[in-house]
Amino acid sequence: MLCLHDSIRHDDPSVQRLLGAVEDAHSLTALILAAWQVARVLTVHLVEAVLAERARRPLAWPRCPQCGVFLRSKGFATRQVMSLFGPIRWRRRVGRCPHGCAIPQVAPLDEALGVQPHQRTSGELQSLGCALAVFVPFATAARLLGWYSGRTVSPQAVWGWVQAAGQRAMETLQEHLHALAQGDLPAPEALAADLATAPLVLGADGVMVPFRPTGGQPTGKTRWQEIKVGVLARLGQHRTRTGKVVTRLHPRRLVAVLGGVDALQPRLWLEAVRQGIRQAPQVVWLSDGARGLWRLYEERLAAYAVGILDFYHAAQSLWKGAAAWLDGRTTQARRWFGWARHRLRHGQPDGVLADVVEALEVEGLPASARDTLTALYAYLERHRDHLDYATYKELGLPIGSGMVESACKWLIQQRFKGVGMRWSEDGFNHLLHLRLAWVNGSFEALFQVQLQPSPNT
Ligand SMILES: [Zn+2]
Repeated sequence: MLCLHDSIRHDDPSVQRLLGAVEDAHSLTALILAAWQVARVLTVHLVEAVLAERARRPLAWPRCPQCGVFLRSKGFATRQVMSLFGPIRWRRRVGRCPHGCAIPQVAPLDEALGVQPHQRTSGELQSLGCALAVFVPFATAARLLGWYSGRTVSPQAVWGWVQAAGQRAMETLQEHLHALAQGDLPAPEALAADLATAPLVLGADGVMVPFRPTGGQPTGKTRWQEIKVGVLARLGQHRTRTGKVVTRLHPRRLVAVLGGVDALQPRLWLEAVRQGIRQAPQVVWLSDGARGLWRLYEERLAAYAVGILDFYHAAQSLWKGAAAWLDGRTTQARRWFGWARHRLRHGQPDGVLADVVEALEVEGLPASARDTLTALYAYLERHRDHLDYATYKELGLPIGSGMVESACKWLIQQRFKGVGMRWSEDGFNHLLHLRLAWVNGSFEALFQVQLQPSPNT
């Protein structure tokens, strides 16, 4: 350590200054921050030394894509990218076609390093910027990144990285959807043995997001558009520290689309296949009364899944019926609602339906009450096969679609509906797909970097 200490001290006067600051630091915090500055400079030195060594190695030139002859070196040229530790510079050989074909100059070392021709920031910096932007507004993400990189980062730069990474995520998804449409099913995700035998729960819902007017101008009337969100999770058992067994939704996967049920359907099916809908011993579809989503269930999922109507939504409809029929302020309305809710919960909707029929036969029933009760009857009748709550409870299945609502809150509400926020469709889509990548565990693959520590350190 002393030897390294001395060698850097002699090597670079700027390091000497930084080391002096470490020695002068009083508080622990100041000491750590001062030492970090040294670590930064050391990192840059080390990386640049390795790059310089690699640049000197002989290399095999590729052929000219136009005329086919081997490219020839035109000597060394400097390249620079901004990294998490400051700018990194290296000189490497660049080549051109000896026949003078109009092709961009080629730098084989850059290619080997995975650096794109016009890239100005390295992957780990972009990845961290995008990870921050998954959770906080672009300006905040830029500021936080500035603290850690020791440089000013503009919100526009972070925004640009999010657009590029989101675009990559969307292109990958399009490829998978295309393959699915060709009948090419994805492989199911590997699961631990206990999870592979756990029930798979699926659900979906819609949530509104504020968009800029058509064309994306910043002024004008807000356009609210619906995002469809789908959730898929295994219903795992988890023992808490006090020994209580609770259900845990894990792994949880989300799909979402700016669009309708028809756009959601292939995305949900793609993820359902990945989550083992064809192998799971039990599959459950949980949803409120939204017709489009139940149509999706009938068309795509009913062959594998038991459909459950969200109990709380059903109870809400019962209350509406009670209020319309018996006047919501009366004890009678509350009593009937309590009884009907109890019957429904215990898997006996017949008595409830019979009561509604009887109520509809009462003469002098106001037209509005008649409409509400007719709708209630049709709703319960339509979902006759999705109301067996007593059995669902016995099987340990959920009867409420709370997991869908919490997914919508996390995925959409938390980041896209901040004060004064309005989105362009592209801006929304790119960030949405980054958030999906984050929650679905595919974020790091987008940048081909691993920022998190390995489990055994
Ligand atoms: Zn050529």
